[in-house]
Amino acid sequence: MPINLKNLTIQTAHEGLKNGDFTATDLAKSALAEIESKNKELNAFLEVYDNVLVQAGFADKAIAEARKAGKDFPILCGIPLAIKDNILVKGQIASSASKILENYHATYDATVIKKLQVENGAVLVGRTNMDEFAMGGSTENSAFGPTRNPYDTARVAGGSSGGSAAAIAAGMVLGALGSDTGGSIRQPASFCGVVGLKPTYGAVSRYGVMAMGSSLDQIGPFAKTIEDAQIIFDAIKGKDSLDSTTIDETTYQKEKGKSKKEKLIIGVPWHFLKEGLHADVKKVLDDTLKKLEKKGYEIREISLPNISYSLAVYYVLMPAEVSSNMARFDGVKYGLHVDGKDMIEDYFKTRAAGFGPEVRRRILLGTYVLSSGYYDAYYYRANAVRKLITDDFKKAFESVDLILTPTAPSPAFKIGEKTNDPVAMYLEDIFTVTANLTGMPAVSVPAGMSGNLPIGMQLTAPHGGENSLFEAGKDIEKEV
Ligand code: GLN
Repeated sequence: MPINLKNLTIQTAHEGLKNGDFTATDLAKSALAEIESKNKELNAFLEVYDNVLVQAGFADKAIAEARKAGKDFPILCGIPLAIKDNILVKGQIASSASKILENYHATYDATVIKKLQVENGAVLVGRTNMDEFAMGGSTENSAFGPTRNPYDTARVAGGSSGGSAAAIAAGMVLGALGSDTGGSIRQPASFCGVVGLKPTYGAVSRYGVMAMGSSLDQIGPFAKTIEDAQIIFDAIKGKDSLDSTTIDETTYQKEKGKSKKEKLIIGVPWHFLKEGLHADVKKVLDDTLKKLEKKGYEIREISLPNISYSLAVYYVLMPAEVSSNMARFDGVKYGLHVDGKDMIEDYFKTRAAGFGPEVRRRILLGTYVLSSGYYDAYYYRANAVRKLITDDFKKAFESVDLILTPTAPSPAFKIGEKTNDPVAMYLEDIFTVTANLTGMPAVSVPAGMSGNLPIGMQLTAPHGGENSLFEAGKDIEKEV
């Protein structure tokens, strides 16, 4: 029977599968039909896998067996999900939306893929568009064309995980994975009216995600509701021997929300929100605070003295890490190879043909800030200020449980509006980069509208505080 994924969440689809209202194959067919009719315009998917119905068939079999045995089956079993194109799915192309990896096939599964597909029976529908190697905030840096925002196709879906956010907003899938180095899950979530979670650094294994800034990167979920995001997060989190930065869940539980109060205390750094906010974003912020107050949350003003340096710190440290992570694309190990007269020329030619302008810009910036003579002035200093920013947040979390800011300073902007001004594009990240610099978890929750465009609010918690994010996030989304 035909189902509209727009009317379902992961939770309600699971109920439907449990009750036998429809099958995983029905869900998969509905996803495929929606993609078929809308993807030409939106460009959310770079590829739809050819085994979607096979995967759905496996899920149906597992569901039938569980039913026969009178057992439950995993909530994600049979649920159609989309995967950002920088996460490896064995045997499938993973291109990071770059020409240099256009025909690169992954040789192994990322840990998150094993968990979703093998352990939980989720149906992976395809790989989604993104800014090349996750560098950008609009998905316009994709080598394969921008993703369009389902709310207004003249506008960007955000980035870098724009395809994943748009795919959910358009009703093509019920959930998706993205990666977030400086806001790439949360900002597109805000632009497309979905929930996006950047987990605590180390909560989710990065094994099998293409590294951008290794000290900043995290994989996280997109979904329609906090509850759904939590379901995906619970499935993918956990210590992994293949990623030594992953942390144990027990560390985790211990460190969540400290407040003894029934409702959490929410801090707002007003000093950082005085300028540059779109009027509608400011209004949604004020409305959200009023709603939270009414529900019994205490709102407190906090000070984060060094936060105004965070964007500058990010745009020194991130390119430094980018420049070393990109070195592996040498025309020998993976993907594209262009012949020159010798090995060095092969290298130059391959990288010149394979990388787009934003990736090149960041490699240049990164090698500059790391070069001898400049290292102390830039990289070393930025690292020291990163520590100060982290200390500011730790101090603030001595008196509040969560920090609330907008996710982005404006709603989705027009395609082409910021492409010629990299600094204007970087300013989009002003509220999101701090969670990556500090390693703390943060979530973007749909909280209001600007005309027909969604606006998200961002909650940040101390390390391991995802549960507090979910608690307050649910109270924000319910009011929308
Ligand atoms: N927009 C940010 C940047 O361009 C964030 C990217 C990301 O999180 N991958 O770096």
